[in-house]
Amino acid sequence: MRHTPNAPIVFHCNICDRENHADLHKLTRDDPSCSKCGSSVRLRSIVQILTTELFGCSLRISEIPRSPELVGIGMSCWNGYADRLARHLRFRNTFYHQEPRLDITRIDPAMEGSLDFVIATDVFEHIVLPVSTAFENTRKLLKPDGVFIFSVPFTHPGVESQPALEHFPELHNYSIQEADGHFRLKNTTRAGEVQYFDDLVFHGGPGTTLEMRLFSEWSILTEMENAGFHDVTIYSGSDLRHGIYWPEKWSVPMAARTRPRHV
Ligand SMILES: [Zn+2]
Repeated sequence: MRHTPNAPIVFHCNICDRENHADLHKLTRDDPSCSKCGSSVRLRSIVQILTTELFGCSLRISEIPRSPELVGIGMSCWNGYADRLARHLRFRNTFYHQEPRLDITRIDPAMEGSLDFVIATDVFEHIVLPVSTAFENTRKLLKPDGVFIFSVPFTHPGVESQPALEHFPELHNYSIQEADGHFRLKNTTRAGEVQYFDDLVFHGGPGTTLEMRLFSEWSILTEMENAGFHDVTIYSGSDLRHGIYWPEKWSVPMAARTRPRHV
């Protein structure tokens, strides 16, 4: 079915079940578009991908069969879906700065191979380099045939050999300083050189979560492959009955699988 950008659609939020009437062009990646829970296209797409990967079809959270045998974690996930998911799956949200803590660059070996799924939406662009460690550790946390539900802002969809843009490629010993409402990053490189960066990009407001890099699609696929994921699905198709619409192919979410046990 073709939809023109201004055509109103009816969708059911797959997080809170609310029936919404929305203009298609207002369904953007990160603006709230559910009139009840305030979820965005990206947040609903996480539920779409999780349910598709685990159960074979796109379900609302309220439709997920109670499955306490399916174990997963989120990395600083939005509470709007995290709390609801935990009623249907053995799901635990984790945080970098508060309990229950998880630093994906330094995982507990006892957790390796214990999870059916991991969700990290718009987290990996903030992780200090080398970000490859975070991809590898996520793969280690998963069981065979486990699934990693992943999103970050990214550029250059479909373009080969386009690397990520690391904003601070020699980051070593750094601090963020504020003066007159202006933020500046001071870095001392491993070789002892002092660097200053002024064009800082924060997500969630000035001085909050610093963007460390801008991924390209190719850099993500390469990181996934190098980390040992063997199958990546880019979810760029629309799921209009759940208000999920991707007119552009950049920054769309994806799922990556670990190898099945017998392969
Ligand atoms: Zn909702």
